[in-house]
Amino acid sequence: MSKLDGKTILITGASAGIGKATAIEIAKTGKAKLILTARRVAVLEELKAELESKYEGVKVLPLKLDVSNVKEVESTIASLPEEFANIDVLINNAGLALGINFVRDLDMQETMTMVNTNVVGLIAMTKAVIRIFYKNGGRGDIVNVSSIGSQECYPRGSVYCCTKAAVSMFTSAVRRETIDTRIRVLEIDPGMVLTEFNTVRVHGDKAFADKLYEGCDPLTGQDVGELIVFGITRRENVVLAEASIVPSCQA
Ligand code: NDP
Repeated sequence: MSKLDGKTILITGASAGIGKATAIEIAKTGKAKLILTARRVAVLEELKAELESKYEGVKVLPLKLDVSNVKEVESTIASLPEEFANIDVLINNAGLALGINFVRDLDMQETMTMVNTNVVGLIAMTKAVIRIFYKNGGRGDIVNVSSIGSQECYPRGSVYCCTKAAVSMFTSAVRRETIDTRIRVLEIDPGMVLTEFNTVRVHGDKAFADKLYEGCDPLTGQDVGELIVFGITRRENVVLAEASIVPSCQA
């Protein structure tokens, strides 16, 4: 019997990287009901088939959801099928870094995409799901995937780091706001993780992306997924409030 048995867990950005790895780690652990969301729904359908056939008792609902579209967030959460409607855990993982630029060269369209995805999307998801938590007696877990970039920025990462600093501040604000409830709010700050993230960051230039990992043995999505599972399976009054996880080259 696992603490996650029967729990309904929604992950944003579950089609790749940390989100996908976290879905797998949860499926290994318990008979959870997973709502897996992202824009690439075909990938989520494949993941559903894989998880449901490998892990007995796991149920998966794949949903197309662009978190940067606030209306889509609201309507998706409002129209969940009954079996998945009472969310217990929200994992706000969807996010991206676009372009590595000096401020003088920023592409404002990319800037808005990052802010709308990493910040506005995460706030919209939190608002929609925390209403369910309150309706269910004020209980549930929110896990926000921020970054060590929220603590200290790297050159030409101004916008991305700014969005992650906003995620960190929003996380602590929600934690304070819910102090008299059984809602737990967790922040995970990964360092470098080997995912599609850097390829997206350099507009699909994989060779350039691979160079960014040179001299470092990065984390895997699984490393971060394991930490998230650890956080959401603690005793009810234990909160993994802020956890940094980094490869040794960044320690
Ligand atoms: P990936 O690029 O591998 O995965 C990103 C995920 O986010 C994909 O599933 C993608 O799905 C989804 N996504 C992107 N935009 C949207 C959107 N508008 N709506 C819904 N889903 C979206 O990156 P990671 O797994 O590495 O990143 C996950 C999180 O971890 C991000 O928040 C990132 O900032 C953070 N992080 C990553 C680090 C790293 O080194 N990799 C370090 C620190 C933090 P789809 O394209 O199908 O929509």
